[in-house]
Amino acid sequence: MNAIQKRYEAVQERMRAAAERAKRPYSSITLIAVTKRWPVELVQAARDAGMLHIGENRAEEMAEKRAALAADATIVWHFIGALQSRKAAVVADHADTFHALDRMKIARRLSKRLEENGRAANNRPLPVFLEVNISGEASKAGFAADRWRDDATQREALRKVVEETAVLPGLRLQGLMTMAPFGAPEAEIRDIFRRTRQLSDWLQAEFPALTLDQLSMGMTDDFEIAIEEGATHIRVGRALFGERLT
Ligand SMILES: *Cc1c(COP(=O)(O)O)cnc(C)c1O
Repeated sequence: MNAIQKRYEAVQERMRAAAERAKRPYSSITLIAVTKRWPVELVQAARDAGMLHIGENRAEEMAEKRAALAADATIVWHFIGALQSRKAAVVADHADTFHALDRMKIARRLSKRLEENGRAANNRPLPVFLEVNISGEASKAGFAADRWRDDATQREALRKVVEETAVLPGLRLQGLMTMAPFGAPEAEIRDIFRRTRQLSDWLQAEFPALTLDQLSMGMTDDFEIAIEEGATHIRVGRALFGERLT
């Protein structure tokens, strides 16, 4: 086994153990291998090791790597990073899933482009996650959701975002995405993930006609906690590939 295969095995083992603790099927969790800043050869090596879900956070970098590996149609490309509206077309053309929808402007831009490029018409809307800011940190992206339980105004704003996103023809809203505070104690991280899960359950109950059961949360330092709290998609870079150089 090469080093990447070994690390992949080790991450899968930790995912399995976390799933078991949470009494969840391992198959309900998708591992997204985050290859940002690494060259395309590493993406190829990850694919060869069996990783089919690849995560990138810069639009052009994803488009270039996807083009370089175009012969491999089995790779699923996840755009996980903040998206500037002027890059929305690149993501609409080249991503298979978008994890960080944090403004309605982006939602409308993406949907418009997906109508233009034919994906919406071909019944291939882009699956998206709404990014929510559960911790309330000013530096964090995402729709404000730190006080959704106590604050009816915040709840109403979130309801409105879901309502408006759900009717956009190019997008298929499938759940929430969040990021835990960097370096926070485990109890705090767990609380953030748990509150995201509870918000997701609440939104699902509010919108029974939609399927909002996916949760994108958990990275190298906290993916096991995220799995225990209900993550369906974890986004892992360093645990698989080591420290990024840039
Ligand atoms: C880089 C990144 C990750 C992966 O981070 P690691 O700590 O390397 O696992 C996950 N999610 C997002 C949004 C990222 O930008």
